[in-house]
Amino acid sequence: MVKAIVGANWGDEGKGKITDMLASQSDVVIRFQGGANAGHTIINDYGRFALHTLPSGVFYPHITNVIGNGVALDIGKLAAELEEVTSQGVPAPKLIVSDRAQLLMPYHILQDTYEEARLGGRAFGSTKSGIAPFYSDKYAKTGIQVCDLFAEDILRERVAAAVELKNVLFQHLYHQPKVSADEIIARLLELRERIRPYVGDTVAFVHRALAEGKTILLEGQLGSMKDPDLGIFPMTTSSHTLAGYGCVGASVPPTAIEDVICVTKAYSSCVGSSTEPFVSEVTGSAGDELRRRGGDKGEFGATTGRPRRVGWFDTVATKYGCMVQGATQVALTCLDVLGYLDEIPVCTGYEIDGAVTDIFPTTPALLRGRPVFEMLSGWKCDVRGCTDYNALPENARAYVDFLEARIGVPITMVSTGPKREEMARRTPKL
Ligand code: GDP
Repeated sequence: MVKAIVGANWGDEGKGKITDMLASQSDVVIRFQGGANAGHTIINDYGRFALHTLPSGVFYPHITNVIGNGVALDIGKLAAELEEVTSQGVPAPKLIVSDRAQLLMPYHILQDTYEEARLGGRAFGSTKSGIAPFYSDKYAKTGIQVCDLFAEDILRERVAAAVELKNVLFQHLYHQPKVSADEIIARLLELRERIRPYVGDTVAFVHRALAEGKTILLEGQLGSMKDPDLGIFPMTTSSHTLAGYGCVGASVPPTAIEDVICVTKAYSSCVGSSTEPFVSEVTGSAGDELRRRGGDKGEFGATTGRPRRVGWFDTVATKYGCMVQGATQVALTCLDVLGYLDEIPVCTGYEIDGAVTDIFPTTPALLRGRPVFEMLSGWKCDVRGCTDYNALPENARAYVDFLEARIGVPITMVSTGPKREEMARRTPKL
């Protein structure tokens, strides 16, 4: 059976921790979309890791980790990450890289960087990892698959064709130097040797694993708000962040996904451009304090180190985010972060053009949205590390009950700290 662990919001909800935790009872963990543009922070017995490309199952020797065909594969970054993990004492993980995954090329990173510079004040706040040009090329059918690395004639032809197009852009739109197909091919052939031992037919592997009754975890990157179809377009990423895309990016049959665990934080955070609508945002000193106290080391990007925008919990966005994921249960993380507050605002509606709605709108309306807050009582104590849900202060439990009733999906796990064991199981009231 397949379980998906995905984000209900803007990403950084703590999916890495939940995947790391649930991986212990799974056989396979698959990354099915995105690339090295976002990171999961995982803290376990080996130390603290920021994984960007490797699936979060790499810390367990019994797990096969799969980089699915839907991923944007930057081989250099994958090789570096493997080295980083093993150099900190983690045994060499079992890993299969899909032969159908496509390669994130050096010219994707250049194009992303040049385009953000060209846009200036209208930039998307990209991490400049090349993700948007990568997926554009995939759908324009000029991408390069991993299997092409092992068919040199095809590789040469396809890289030459792609470079021809890129150089027109680089020279005439961006006024930048041309790239050389020969240099790119030479580098790719070098990198090919670093992934050769891992390349395989992950489609056959996944279907065999399912036939054998194995448990597969799909590990999502970012969250619902960043989906290019159902998120806040165009302030989205370029691959689908929804569990449903696992059917394509990890090649699991739609009927095999039995459980969709949506992860959401007890407050909100959002990375990207400052022009992105973020209705429940907290700014000023209250925002600085929440940012400083958030996550395990403050709310700063795992990939970029940039400060994340922070906000109060948004039931409108989260209810929608869970709905489009098809959530069967919710893991609420970072409850411990809110222990300093006397009162906790929760955004339960958007006022748009004088009317209040709890239905998540399209971008133009969202840009005009103003938050409607309800105030809940704080619990004014440190609940970090609490593993017994019933031992949490009454107000903390009331806060969780309130969120559950508003988002309409059972909250089954409440995380009280960044470490693997800092987790309270909850019997849902829904
Ligand atoms: P992901 O991309 O969804 O995996 O999220 P990130 O790893 O980018 O961000 C989540 C951050 O919150 C990380 O720094 C985690 O270590 C941290 N974290 C996860 N769960 C908890 C929790 O319950 N409490 C606290 N304080 N931090 C947490």
